[in-house]
This record gives sequence, structure tokens and C-alpha cells, in this order.
Amino acid sequence: MYDYLLSEENKEFREEVREFVKNAIPPSLLKKMDKDEVQYPSEWLHALAKQNLIGIRFPKEYGGRGLNWESEIIAQEEIGVLGSSLACLFSLPSICGEALNKFGTEEQKLNYLKPMCEGKKFTAEALTEPRGGSDFFGATSTAVKEGDYYILNGEKRFVVGAEGADFFLVYAKTNPNAQPRDALSLFIVDKSEAVEAAYIYGLLGTRGGGAGRIIFKDVEVPKENVIMGEGKGGKIFYQMMVPERLSTASGFIGLARACLHIATKYSTKRKAFGQVIKNFQAVNFMLADCITYLDATRAIVFNTAKSIDAGAPPALQRRLVSESKKFSTKACWKVINKSMQIMGGIGYTTVYPIERLMRDARLGEIWTGTTEIMNLIIQHEYYKEVLSEKWIGRDVELDALDAEHEEEKHYG
Ligand SMILES: Cc1cc2nc3c(=O)[nH]c(=O)nc-3n(C[C@H](O)[C@H](O)[C@H](O)COP(=O)(O)OP(=O)(O)OC[C@H]3O[C@@H](n4cnc5c(N)ncnc54)[C@H](O)[C@@H]3O)c2cc1C
Repeated sequence: MYDYLLSEENKEFREEVREFVKNAIPPSLLKKMDKDEVQYPSEWLHALAKQNLIGIRFPKEYGGRGLNWESEIIAQEEIGVLGSSLACLFSLPSICGEALNKFGTEEQKLNYLKPMCEGKKFTAEALTEPRGGSDFFGATSTAVKEGDYYILNGEKRFVVGAEGADFFLVYAKTNPNAQPRDALSLFIVDKSEAVEAAYIYGLLGTRGGGAGRIIFKDVEVPKENVIMGEGKGGKIFYQMMVPERLSTASGFIGLARACLHIATKYSTKRKAFGQVIKNFQAVNFMLADCITYLDATRAIVFNTAKSIDAGAPPALQRRLVSESKKFSTKACWKVINKSMQIMGGIGYTTVYPIERLMRDARLGEIWTGTTEIMNLIIQHEYYKEVLSEKWIGRDVELDALDAEHEEEKHYG
């Protein structure tokens, strides 16, 4: 849709990723993942690494490609057609790498960011705790300093790649008495015997990515593995949420696009009452709604990516990313639902992949921050923006017929 806005390099890049998605992964892997026969598709990460598609935004010296956000959302949409599990595994290096690239020491970049981009070490993020994911700052995992190590204890859940990752980014409280935003630190934790990971959940969709539980029992983490120092977890978390949420927003366009494509083709072949169903307005208007939703989603996601590339301030980034994630996951859900409707009964079966992508898509409004949490952020940042600015536009209140009745403007 926005082809005319893309740079030549990004058009070429999109073709490269499209070609990769077409050939790199056999349908059998997706089927095995959906049947829960695969807990961690390491072949996917090896294929991404071979194509140099891991951590594409990070500098070339650390194994990335030095690309921008415009490139990343293009790649996410293409990869999204494979479903949310592989899209998530593509986005994890972008999310964890954001913390390492922006805030890590040179040593941390060489030991973790570079091997991650080269596909030699796999990563996962361990944020959510059993007591709640939305209240992130209420985390109860602890890390206590003893000499050259921190002793980490706690439990995380729903960690994609729990069993397959080589290292985890883990938030834990280092100063329980500080204000919540200063109490947390971010640790790079290597897989070890003391890190007990188990793939235990039966999931509605998004299967085969290894979303598991991790228990940290007296794990010794070298002090060199704290990112940015003690108490900086809050600052890093806000930054990590940019790739976390923008990758969901862009990836889900791919899921919805795949479903709409199938439904569109089907509507040109399937007949009812002696004619192809595409001729019924009830059907082709559903399609019109879907493509409008998809283009609107691409527009908001593209605008957000371009704004970040152009240096939008952090507060605006937070609002735009949250709006994108909320809008995209809601709109893509509608597109997938209507695509199924166009297909009739066969769309509800496993003969077509729409049912799988629908099960995947339900997660969109839940993970990487729920829609309710997106709303909290959007209104918070917007109030802050409006209240901090002097209104410079026309004072439209004065255009009311009885604007001079100031005494009627009660505020309780
Ligand atoms: C398949 C899957 C993969 C995941 N992958 C990862 C991963 O790799 N790493 C990771 O760390 N986490 C991961 N998650 C966790 C995910 O991000 C959380 O489930 C999500 O943030 C919600 O947290 P919760 O489940 O604890 O729900 P809760 O926080 O308990 O929320 C329950 C409900 O209350 C609402 N609510 C809570 N607080 C408020 C409020 N203040 N105002 C309004 N409503 C509110 C929520 O919106 C929600 O509707 C994954 C989850 C799933 C299911």
C-alpha cells in the first residue's frame, strides 16, 4: 500500500524477506509447531541467521545490518504471514538487543549482542511473573549482591523460548525499598542448572515457541551482567517496549493479510445460487472493510516507525507505539474474523490455515501489554502533552452562540 513511500533499498529488502519467507520454512514445521510436537524451532533461527535477518537494526560491527525501523516493520509484516510464533522468535532479538545495543557495555555487546545477531546464541525475555504481567513494576524476583555476583531468585512465566534460549534478560528487584521505578535492575542470565525452564502450558495458538515457566533458584549472576547498573531497570524497560509492541503491531498485519488473501481468492471461485460469491455485496463489502482496516493499520504503524526513525521524543514514541499495537491487534482480529466468514464452514476447519491464524491472533490484545495497558499509556501521555503545552490554535470555545455566558461553564 505504501510502496510509493518506501526507499529503493527498503523495496529491495522487502523482496528479499518475501522470498525468504516463501522458501526458508517448509509447511511441515508450522504443522509440527501447531501440534505441539516442537518446543523450540531452532532451525528457524538458524535460517534467519544464515540470511542475516537477526537483529537487523543493530550496527554491522555487532552482526546486524544497521537498518532502520521502516525496514523492521517491513520484515515483520512479511514474517507475520507465518503466524505469531515465528514472528515472535524473529522479534525477540530485536527486543532484547535493544537493551544490549542502547545500554550495554562493549563487553556485553561482544559477548551477547554479536553472537545473538550471528545466530550463535539464542535469547529470551523474562518479564512476566505469576503474580501479574501488567503491574510490571510490582515484580517480586530479587537479586542480592554478594561479592562479585548477584544471587537471583524468583519465578517468571510465559517466557517464549524458555527451554531453547542460551541467555535471558531478567528484571529483578535490587532495592525493594526504593520507588518502584528505581527498584528494578536488568540482568543478563546465562542458561545453567540453576535456571529451571519448563514448557508446561497448553496454548490456544502461538504454539511451538516454547512459552514456558522459569524458576531462578540462587542463580549466581556476575556483576558484569547488570545492564546499565543497579536501579536502571525502569529506564531500560520503557525503551524495550518500543520494539516489543511495534513488532506485534507490524507482525499481526502479516497474519491478517494472509487470511484476507485466502478469502479473496476463495470468493472468486466459490459459487452459491449459481454465481461466484464475490458478486454478493454482503461478501465484497466485508472484503472492502478488511482492506480498509489493513491499510489503516499499515498507515499508523508506518507513521510510528517513521516518527521513531526521525527522532520522536520518548513520550511520543510511547503513545504512538501503544496506539499502533492497540489499533493493529483489534483491526487484524476483525480482518481475520471476516475472512473466516467469507469462507463459510470450510474456513472454520483445518483445511485452511485461517483457524490457526485466528487462534494466534487472539493473543495480540493480551501479550506485550494488554489493550487496557495500551489505553492507560495513551491517555496518560496525551494528557501530559496537552496540559504541558500552551494552546496555540484557534480558541473554538468562543465560536459558540452563547460563548459569553461564562457563568454557565460549571466544572463541579
Ligand atoms: C503465549 C504467550 C507468550 C508470552 N510471551 C512472553 C515472553 O516471552 N516474555 C514475557 O515476559 N511475557 C510473555 N507473555 C506474558 C504477557 O505479556 C502477559 O500475559 C501480559 O502482559 C498480561 O499479563 P498477565 O497475564 O499477568 O495479566 P494481568 O496483568 O493479571 O491482567 C489481567 C487483566 O487485568 C487487566 N488489568 C490489569 N491491570 C490493569 C489496569 N491497571 N487497568 C486496566 N486493566 C488492567 C488486564 O488488561 C487484563 O485484562 C506471554 C504471554 C502469552 C500468553
